[in-house]
Amino acid sequence: MRPGRGVALGSKCGAMGAGEPVLLRRCRFLLPCASCGVAEDVSVLVEDGVIAWMGGGPAPPGASSGTVVDCRGWGAAIPCLYNAHTHASMSLLRGYYDDAELHEWLQHMWYVEQRLTPRVAYLGARLAALEMAMGGTCGFMDMYFYPDEAARAAVETGLRARVGPVIMGDADPAAAVEEAKRYAASAAKRWGPLVGGVVNVHSIYAAPLEALPAAAEAAEELGVPLHIHVSETRREVYEAKKRYGVFPVELLHRLGALRRVTVLVHMGWAASWELGLVRDAGASIIHCPVSNMKLATAGHFPLREALDMGINVGLGTDGAASNNTLDMLREARAAVLLQRHSYWDTRVKATDALRIATEGSAKAMMLPERAGRLEPGAPGDIVVLDTRSPGLQPVRRDNLLQAIVYAATSRDIAYTIVNGRLVYARERREEYVEEAAKIGEELNKWLESIGTGKAEPPCSPRNACRKTH
Ligand SMILES: [Zn+2]
Repeated sequence: MRPGRGVALGSKCGAMGAGEPVLLRRCRFLLPCASCGVAEDVSVLVEDGVIAWMGGGPAPPGASSGTVVDCRGWGAAIPCLYNAHTHASMSLLRGYYDDAELHEWLQHMWYVEQRLTPRVAYLGARLAALEMAMGGTCGFMDMYFYPDEAARAAVETGLRARVGPVIMGDADPAAAVEEAKRYAASAAKRWGPLVGGVVNVHSIYAAPLEALPAAAEAAEELGVPLHIHVSETRREVYEAKKRYGVFPVELLHRLGALRRVTVLVHMGWAASWELGLVRDAGASIIHCPVSNMKLATAGHFPLREALDMGINVGLGTDGAASNNTLDMLREARAAVLLQRHSYWDTRVKATDALRIATEGSAKAMMLPERAGRLEPGAPGDIVVLDTRSPGLQPVRRDNLLQAIVYAATSRDIAYTIVNGRLVYARERREEYVEEAAKIGEELNKWLESIGTGKAEPPCSPRNACRKTH
């Protein structure tokens, strides 16, 4: 890093200008990546959506005017978090039915989902996007009904997103893949450069298996992820073995659906030989520790083994109905704690948790190169954390990483910058929370209007869901 000289920049801290340069001036700390050393008193300049300069001192010589965040003495510039598995609209179901195991929980979810409208799906997604922006999450990979509503919420909030329809139930496999393909091929054109497609296949138990080979082919051809829940429950593994004679990942392999673009979510019940198949394919795994614990699906996702084998692992919150927050910092902490509790050792470190939440998720989501790192030329995705919080003290250069993973929460985030644009500034907190409160009111009215009950899955009638859950 080279030192810069002081430059007077134009607009005030917290302005939400699109496209204008953003300067983080004299941040107390800079953590360029999860395994990087921490630098002090560093400025970062973002221009045209990418990090143009990082260095000691106030700013590079000749920097053009733009938005200035003066983070001297308090701000830690860190890479963005990316939520690599969620169901954004499910924020509408936060706190709806919390204290039940997966099957019973699902029946209540299905009751509501059969009554969903685009408006309600949008409100849930917007709520999720606001929460993520405020919490330092710069992008998410989604799997839910009404993908247009999630895309719209992402665009309005300024987040990166991967969205697409979900192949599930008794859909005609060829038609479902065709629709997924069409959506993925046109997503960026319709929604702009921050939104890309994803081929979503719900799971091997709730989607037509015949769709998988073509879905994988399509994802690879289009250069988008193939996103699927795998080995979430013991029952899923048991049913796969009984019906097909193989474990879920082996089944995907047999179907030609285990590829470089494949993203396997959960994997709590994966066998060690299945990890070998994942590694050989170059596929990614998304760990969702809180959802797994809350729904009591158990299993031990072998995070240490997966990382040691060179498998790319990302982190996700799953939906707010099963988490109940989209706070990726809390998720990173939970990832470490679950491993330590399950394996009785400390081989998973804070650096691993931050790496999977940043670079790991970014790679699985197929985001632009170097997303999840702060360095010149990398995407302008940056989070500024307020290190003055009582819950982080006494924070220093040598324990900043631990403060981020073990102590910080989304409430410590002061600014979130995506593609060089401030999508959240704490000066605008009131605006955000007021909108969220209004959405909450509208959602409560709607939930009241539909009543409560249990239902069979939306993926009936044939129906694989009913048989396995
Ligand atoms: Zn999920």
